[in-house]
Amino acid sequence: MAELHEVIIIGGGPAGLTAAIYAARANLAPVIIEGYAAGGQLMITTDVENYPGFPEGVQGPELMELFRGQAERFGAQLITADVSRIDVSASPFGVWTDGEEYRAKSVIIATGASARWLGLESETRLRGYGVSSCATCDGFFFRDRELVVVGGGDTAMEEALFLARIASKVTVVHRRDEFRASRIMAERVIAHPKIAVRWNAEVERVIGDDVVESVEVRDTVTGAVEVIPTAAVFVAIGHSPNTELFINQIEVDGAGYIVTNGTRTSVDGVFACGDVQDAIYRQAITASGSGCMAAMDAERWLDSSAHESSTTQHHA
Ligand code: NDP
Repeated sequence: MAELHEVIIIGGGPAGLTAAIYAARANLAPVIIEGYAAGGQLMITTDVENYPGFPEGVQGPELMELFRGQAERFGAQLITADVSRIDVSASPFGVWTDGEEYRAKSVIIATGASARWLGLESETRLRGYGVSSCATCDGFFFRDRELVVVGGGDTAMEEALFLARIASKVTVVHRRDEFRASRIMAERVIAHPKIAVRWNAEVERVIGDDVVESVEVRDTVTGAVEVIPTAAVFVAIGHSPNTELFINQIEVDGAGYIVTNGTRTSVDGVFACGDVQDAIYRQAITASGSGCMAAMDAERWLDSSAHESSTTQHHA
């Protein structure tokens, strides 16, 4: 059987890397399987200006490189590979990448979430140049400009309300004639003097050579095409937690997020942190915070289960 580790961390974004720093400093010699998309959602962000400690801001990839360096300095073993399968039905738990099998007494899941995108070529091309999935991260760059938010759920409402404090005007483009969002959020958006709603409209194209200049939308009822000038497009059509690996092994909620109590999951010895278990806050700093909690929870759990097994042996 493969070498037995104290803890394996799956996912190399802010949550996983913070868990790695704490676990390494607790002498747990963590193995962190960071995935080929190591660094997580911050790798597709340009300037991060809301991460405390960087008053001048920091580039998302640079911040993740600093996290990695800090984890390695304390002895975390980083493995750049995707996990293809896990088995947490019995201890020690099993984690497989394409070429390797890993065994551990505890597992910390930090696989994050992925923003959903419209799937347009123009959207992909201008991502980071006016196309964003995070108003909190990027809204600040568009002070006093006209902006577009796409979506009709609570996230879209929250993004629109946040941006309305910064922008001169926000247009919410929604594909139906009513919002999915909670009534209170929807009413706030509809009543807001700086927010307009373009109902029954689908974005067909984001227009701009180097930066976003406008969006082309098609009316789903009349078929009419309209061009809305805008400096940025905030796509807020939901996130998908990256939990495919865990379905049928660890409890997830209706939207696919791992159900946690603190950072404990439905499986004893398996912990989860960051966006994979958080549909609400989804910030690098909150992901980091819960990564720290997961490592401390895992450490305590390992201590208490070592204690239990040594007690059992003692009595045997
Ligand atoms: P939701 O799934 O609730 O909403 C997604 C929205 O995007 C829907 O209006 C949907 O349209 C629209 N949409 C989906 N796909 C497309 C597409 N391809 N093209 C155009 N529009 C599309 O996701 P949210 O991220 O808004 O919310 C996720 C969860 O998090 C919810 O439970 C929400 O309540 C919660 N949340 C709570 C907050 C709070 O309480 N403060 C803040 C943020 C989120 P349609 O309606 O037609 O399906």
